[in-house]
This record gives sequence, C-alpha cells and structure tokens, in this order.
Amino acid sequence: MDCELCGRRNADRRAEVEGVSLNVCNDCVSLGKEMPKVEIRPVKRFVPKLPEELSQNIRPDFALVIRREREKRKLTQEKLAKKLNEKLSIIRRIEEGWEPPFVLIKKLEKFFDIKLLEDISEESTPRTSKRENLTIGDVVEIN
Ligand SMILES: [Zn+2]
Repeated sequence: MDCELCGRRNADRRAEVEGVSLNVCNDCVSLGKEMPKVEIRPVKRFVPKLPEELSQNIRPDFALVIRREREKRKLTQEKLAKKLNEKLSIIRRIEEGWEPPFVLIKKLEKFFDIKLLEDISEESTPRTSKRENLTIGDVVEIN
C-alpha cells in the first residue's frame, strides 16, 4: 500500500493527521500523530470433535483398503469421486495416504460397507477376530 500522504513509499505506519487516520510512510509519520498498528489476527475456528471421533482412529492401512475396495468395484478414482460427491484430487490424496476428515471416513465406510475406524482402546488388547475362525464352509457362498 502506498503512503496516503506522499504516495511515494510503502505505508507501513499509521498516523492521525488532522483527525484522519492514514496509512503513511516512515517519512510522513512525523506530520501527524502516530497510532498503534491495528493487528489483524486470524480467526481460529473451533471445530468440536464428536465423542465418536475422539475414541476412534483410522486404521493405518486405510489407503490400501480404500484402493482395494474401489478396484473390487471396478471404479476409477474419477467415478468414485463422483459417487461420493467429492473432488478427484481428494480421492487421489486419500489413496496416497492422506487421512481424510472424519465425515469423509464415515462416507467411505458406508459406501464400501467396510470399517476404517478402530477404537483406540482396543489397540492394545488383542482382538479375537471372528473371520479367522471361519472354516471353508462358512466362506463359500451357496447359491
Ligand atoms: Zn509518505
């Protein structure tokens, strides 16, 4: 911004000249009464976390899981983005390992019918997975 008095230099100071506050340069500041600079602080937006969000972590291999599920459905990244109403760049980033926001995780879980979140409390205790106990008879689909 140019000095509002001389217009020649950068106005990085503020002064009150005859009752009007102006942006002035270092030279012109003496023509008026210098005023403290008004600092513009960025407004931080507070986004409260849901209790659900606090107690759950996205699984570490989410990028692979999402990619696998997408390929299973023969969807391109573009098609998936469209179906989820998200940008292609977002899908791309997720598959590269960028952690999506909670709402998007939920969307992906619903869309693929998978679980991407795991409870933090369960991490330290070994889980007994039902899937591991399945016999071949349980797995083969009978049509
Ligand atoms: Zn000036």
